[in-house]
Amino acid sequence: MPASIISKLPDVGTTIFTVMSSLAVEHNAINLGQGFPDFNMSDELIARVNEAMLKGFNQYVHMNGYMPLREVLAEKIFDLYNTAVNPETDITITPGGTYAIYTALTTVLSPGDEVIVFQPGYDSYIPNIEINGATPVIIPLEYPDYGINWETVQKALTPRTRMIMLNSPNNPTGAILNENDINALQRIVGGTDIFILSDEVYEHVIFDERPHLSMLRYPDLAARSFICFSFGKTYHCTGWKIGYCVAPAAFMKEFRKVHQFNVFSVDSPKQVALAKFLQRKEQYLSLGNFVQQKRDYFLSMMADTKFKMHTSHGSYFILASYGHFSDEAEIDFTMRLTKDFGVAAIPVSAFYKKPVDNKVIRFCFCKKEETLEKAAERLSKL
Ligand code: GLN
Repeated sequence: MPASIISKLPDVGTTIFTVMSSLAVEHNAINLGQGFPDFNMSDELIARVNEAMLKGFNQYVHMNGYMPLREVLAEKIFDLYNTAVNPETDITITPGGTYAIYTALTTVLSPGDEVIVFQPGYDSYIPNIEINGATPVIIPLEYPDYGINWETVQKALTPRTRMIMLNSPNNPTGAILNENDINALQRIVGGTDIFILSDEVYEHVIFDERPHLSMLRYPDLAARSFICFSFGKTYHCTGWKIGYCVAPAAFMKEFRKVHQFNVFSVDSPKQVALAKFLQRKEQYLSLGNFVQQKRDYFLSMMADTKFKMHTSHGSYFILASYGHFSDEAEIDFTMRLTKDFGVAAIPVSAFYKKPVDNKVIRFCFCKKEETLEKAAERLSKL
């Protein structure tokens, strides 16, 4: 008998980001689907990587990350969130935010555990839970504002609830956590042994002067959290695949056991370069305003189309409704947009385990103005 695999992820296909980006290439469409900037990153940061390579930083760095990088991250966390994090024990550099999330889930979850997860939500979460034999307990975000109903969360808790997954600023909705959310979360997890996985990769991509309510600001929440970040989102280099995870030392000790036998260590010259570049605080502190201008420009351009635009408080993304002029399913609609109108987007149904079709699609607006303008012009023909 030939070898055959019993799939660990029988219900999973190819991620929508790959599907839509391939379709965009095939049809030469403007890609407002997958979330990545279409402008180049900082020349200075590139030069620093070159410099690090020439200086000989080409061998393995410490498996937990280049120490000066972890140190500068600890300083940044202290400045921004007023929390002392030990760079030796509480921070690990990872090949991207998605890997950090997967590793944290694998560290914590056992078969039979339940994980509270909100939908629409980033498409890797559910497979990451299921591959560990745990069960996702899915809570719908409330359409159309995609806020969290904490009463529903409270009712969904069982003795098996092991973790709650959060993502603010949220992909795909652009919603952010506010103080009421934090208070409710504190009430719900207080006195329990529930972990939090907080995906904060858009930490700096937050608009209208609103604060980012990181779990790191709240000692009671930070004490039960794995918090995942991405340099790709902050420095316009999503292809670099570098991020990090912050967690209390006892959690991080176990996280590192999984990490060391998976990737072991992450790209050294980029870590050396980032350790220097992170000292330029204005680079990340100005990111919110920079991306906000793109959101506002895109909104002004989209005013000439039939789409009803939602509100985005953060992330690279904004949602758009089209149900008032078409009843096509989201996936068919986005395929048609790509093929016939030359603009790729992501159907929000792809962010649900069991697709919900509210006739809403996601656009990535972290693009050059000319790209946004050209896309909106094409969309105005609909
Ligand atoms: N985070 C990006 C998005 O939501 C995509 C990352 C990926 O393609 N896996 O579009």
